[in-house]
Amino acid sequence: MRPDILNPLFAETETLDGVGPKLKKPLDKLGLTRVRDVAYHLPERFVTRRPVQNLDEASEGEQIVIALTPTEHRAARSGRGPYRVLAQDAIGNICALTYFGRASYTAKKLLPVGEKRWVAGRLDRYGDMLQIVHPDHVESEGGESLGRLCEPVYALSEGLTQPKVSGLVEQALGKLPDLPEWIESGQFDKQGWPQWADALKLAHKGENAKARDRLAYDELLANSLALMLVRADNRRRKGQPLQGDGSLRAKLDLPYELTGAQKRSVREIEGNLAQEAPMLRLLQGDVGAGKTVVALEAMLVAVEAGKQAALLAPTEILARQHFESLRELARPTGVEIALLTGRDKGRARESILMGLLDGSIDLIVGTHAIFQDSVSYKDLALVVIDEQHRFGVAQRLQLSSKGRRTPHTLAMTATPIPRTLTLAQYGEMDVSKLDEMPPGRQPIDTRVVSQDRLAEVVEGVGRHMASGQQAYWVCPMVREHETEDIAAAEARYAGLKERFGDAVVLVHGQLKPELKDAAMERFAAGEAKLLVATTVIEVGVDVPAATLMVIEQAERFGLAQLHQLRGRVGRGSEKSTCLLLRGGALSETGRERLALMRETQDGFRLAEEDLRLRGGGELLGTRQSGDTPFRVASLEQITKLLPLAHDDARLLMERDGGLDSERGAAARILLYLFERDWGVQLLRGG
Ligand code: ADP
Ligand code: MG
Repeated sequence: MRPDILNPLFAETETLDGVGPKLKKPLDKLGLTRVRDVAYHLPERFVTRRPVQNLDEASEGEQIVIALTPTEHRAARSGRGPYRVLAQDAIGNICALTYFGRASYTAKKLLPVGEKRWVAGRLDRYGDMLQIVHPDHVESEGGESLGRLCEPVYALSEGLTQPKVSGLVEQALGKLPDLPEWIESGQFDKQGWPQWADALKLAHKGENAKARDRLAYDELLANSLALMLVRADNRRRKGQPLQGDGSLRAKLDLPYELTGAQKRSVREIEGNLAQEAPMLRLLQGDVGAGKTVVALEAMLVAVEAGKQAALLAPTEILARQHFESLRELARPTGVEIALLTGRDKGRARESILMGLLDGSIDLIVGTHAIFQDSVSYKDLALVVIDEQHRFGVAQRLQLSSKGRRTPHTLAMTATPIPRTLTLAQYGEMDVSKLDEMPPGRQPIDTRVVSQDRLAEVVEGVGRHMASGQQAYWVCPMVREHETEDIAAAEARYAGLKERFGDAVVLVHGQLKPELKDAAMERFAAGEAKLLVATTVIEVGVDVPAATLMVIEQAERFGLAQLHQLRGRVGRGSEKSTCLLLRGGALSETGRERLALMRETQDGFRLAEEDLRLRGGGELLGTRQSGDTPFRVASLEQITKLLPLAHDDARLLMERDGGLDSERGAAARILLYLFERDWGVQLLRGG
């Protein structure tokens, strides 16, 4: 149970003054559902504005404070257009104060014609006109003091304003309880960090690296500690030592020899399986590195030992693909293998459930449906989880309660993440790395092409299809609203379908599973030649005859994601091509990202570079941490502070593994604060 002292922080945001149903929605959208979240909604940056006498002194893009006198109000011309107030500076320059939506009502009141006002905001240009969109402040007096303010700038969602968020943050900060210190005193003194509550307050007030670092450290410490608790718990558990006699594996009739990395991984896994303590191992290997066959060998060990094994995939499509390739590979062994997804109903499902219960099914492949309460196993001894990053630690723990004894776990990921992040995300696991590609892979010819040349690209895709080969066309999933992304993909699909007819299919996240699978199946069978998709194809899909990939607005993807996407091609013996379409204005890092994609196909290198590009150069620790499990710690802070937090956590575990000491009690509070309380649950259970 959560310690009472944290209750004020975990109260809903509605307990803050001024938050009703109307504000709740935009707050939820930002993930701010409790007082705690609001307190931790740290500013993205701070602004200090320069007071100017007139507009000639200011430059575009600058944050300014200026005295302006409204001369005219212009209502929106159409329903959705902006409301503009034209205003004059001291020497007669005109500037528009622009308001969208409901904000126009306030504009009418705040800016009466003929009365001088101090206006603070960012100067922009709209066509020929200078403008300030939604000024941050409009005051009749006190312009000088506005110029001295250093104000936080918060991430917003529609319906929220900076002052509103500031007000809520202030209230939340007023509710901070007095918490005991969980950071080891030596570390705390050495770093000169503020106390927890002070750090939060300081972080909202101005740029304060020490405060931000302390808060990030807290989050990293909570994470390391929780993962170590999982690991410690795992050591205490009893699993089943699995000793395979090799009889089934000997029957495998692989058309190739395992790479050195695959052999090594299999050996490492065998070593774990032979132990009584349940295995917790991560198999890390780039797309195409050959994880499937390693998983199969592991599962066969379990079957040789007379037990069952399960493979969990994050999507139906993947489950189906895994099922098919495993069935093919395992055919000579004669093991019984079945597929179970959420779509299986009625009799088919019943018969699979029976088979799992009476042990006639040896291997089951499926989505999370295979771990529902209604599914019981005769003797489940090994769980393989594909694309581990899609599942949280908490879910994984749930799975491990399925067997009579704790099953061994092999997690697989094709997301090559940098070393530091491996520690953060999988710190509780041993790692096997497939750092060697199967022989004979042709490099993928990667080119960056301007979006302006779309028509040529479409023609190229046409020629490609005419030659009998298949292609992917990826539309980004990057806009704020998922529906807009879907719309963009659908529009592209419609255009391509018009050009190429029935050979084109569409797959995206909002399609019904039946339709999605039907489209995928047509593509996999080679009936459809062009698959238009949002990033749902990112993970695992394997169609060796697809040898061309077009990625639209490639600059909007992260390196790691581009790499994953590109990995869909280059799977067969034919030469493959990847066209990265880029929009007009590229940022420096955008340019560098695309250049790197052209340069290398080493996923682990790209992951390190991704970290460098995303983490470097940020003034504040913004929450640009992408796929990390962290909300407070930036990539830069993870790199800098995680090793310290990790050591600190280990020390605490060595001294007080039950978290019973005074500091241990403080650490429990920390775990709850960052919702790593599954770590604490294990303590009591164990
Ligand atoms: P991953 O799941 O790691 O992305 P897969 O297991 O799907 O990769 O393997 C990719 C392809 O490589 C498959 O077609 C597989 O048959 C092939 N493959 C796997 N191991 C080897 C090997 N040692 N030599 C040659 N081909 C291999
Ligand atoms: Mg795979």
